[in-house]
Formats: sequence, C-alpha cells, structure tokens
Amino acid sequence: MDGGIPLQDSVVYGPIHSRRLGHSLGINILPVSHKVCSSNCVYCQYGWTVSGRFPERLKKAPELLKEIEESFSRLVHSGTRVDCVTLAGNGEPTLHPELEAVIIGLKALRDVYFPKAPVGILSDSTQITRHKVRQAIGWLDVCYMKFDAAEESTWRRINDPLGHTDFQAMIRVLHELPDVILQSMFVQGTYDNTDDGHLATWIDRVAWIHPQSVQVYTIDRPTAAAGITKVPRPILEGIAARLTEATGVPAEVFD
Ligand code: SF4
Repeated sequence: MDGGIPLQDSVVYGPIHSRRLGHSLGINILPVSHKVCSSNCVYCQYGWTVSGRFPERLKKAPELLKEIEESFSRLVHSGTRVDCVTLAGNGEPTLHPELEAVIIGLKALRDVYFPKAPVGILSDSTQITRHKVRQAIGWLDVCYMKFDAAEESTWRRINDPLGHTDFQAMIRVLHELPDVILQSMFVQGTYDNTDDGHLATWIDRVAWIHPQSVQVYTIDRPTAAAGITKVPRPILEGIAARLTEATGVPAEVFD
C-alpha cells in the first residue's frame, strides 16, 4: 500500500464504526484541504504531512461550534446512534490555537445533544509539553495518546515528529497526565517496531507512564510509506499479554 485515503471533508464526520471506539462521531477542527499535523507517521492513513502555504484558513472556535451544533441537531433528529464524540480528523487537533474554547463548547453541546457520550481526543502526544494544551485536554473525558515507540530513534523513524518536541519531556508528561489511554500502533515490513529489544523498552516505559490501559493495534488502511504490513493478531495478542503480565496494565488488541 502506498498513499492514503481522502481527508475528512467536514467538521463533523461519521459516526464511523471504529474498532477501538464504537460508533464514534468524529470532530475535525482542522482544514479540509490538507493535513495539519505535528507528526509524519509512516503509516498515516492520510498520506504524508506536506508543509507549505495553503489558502484555507483555520476556522475559529465560534464558527466551528456553530457547525458542530447544526450537525448534532441533524443527527439527533435522524435518530443516529452516537457512542462517543472524538476530536481527531485531518491531523493533530491539539495544534488548533483555540483548543480549550473548542473543547469547552463541544462539551456543552454534548450535554445537550448526546449527554451519555464521552468526549475524547486522539492525539500524537507531541504537544502535551505545552501548558496551554495540557490545560485544554484537562477538560476532556478521555485522552487517547499515541505511544508507538519507546526509544527516541524508533519514534523519529516511525512517527517522524515535526518541530521541536523533547521525547523525554513528552514521556514525563504522559506519566503525569491522569487516566490516559495509550494507543500503540505496531507495524512490520519496511518499518518494524515489534522486535524484542524495542518491546522490552516499550513495556518498561508503559509501566512507568502507568496509563489506565493500552490499545494495541495495527494498520487497517493504506499507509503513507510503501511496504508496511499488518502485524498478525497472534503477535499483537502476545505483545498485549506480555505487557499485562509484566506491568498489570490492561491491554486490548485491535486488528
Ligand atoms: S499523528 Fe495521526 S494524522 Fe498525524 S501523521 Fe500520524 S497518523 Fe497521521
């Protein structure tokens, strides 16, 4: 596989039946014409992160919330099932400069339209060293934080963080954040983070971070880089079992 799937073309998308989240209503607070991300993961389903100037501007919080409310209202009237509301979309949502205002407004709309649905975020973890981002995500019901690589060299190879993120500082903040759920993507083929040495370090680091749980998964969509392959389920199950046995941290497998 080489390339990716099309970007989300609206602020609210889905609900999509996600392997990990159930009927998840996606919220994209980023542009629809290009991906905006602080990483350039080799397995990204949206292809490579391209830098440069794009004519589309970021929508401000009031504009986003107005569109979100209109969509929520339509979905309630059509009786659509929504298990959770998840900030994700076309890149890294914590890059939005008005993240806190968006999250507070989104939670207020959730209370009105989908009062039982937790509001969460899928994040690449790189921005959590910023106080403003930590303060914003503190309002969320659940934070799914990417942690594919326990060593800086593997992180740079697989997630290719853009900008200046201090790997050790990022792990320290993951450790300090309460009740995070780590998401660890495992890949094989042209890139591989399933070797024994890396797994041993990953288990040590996960134990130190001490998350609420870990989601162990692999690709199920086209990837940015060519030659990446799915990790067979028995291997994922072995990784999850090894983690839980060594650390007591619950791990769920998705393939
Ligand atoms: S963090 Fe997510 S959106 Fe960004 S490059 Fe990685 S997989 Fe793609």
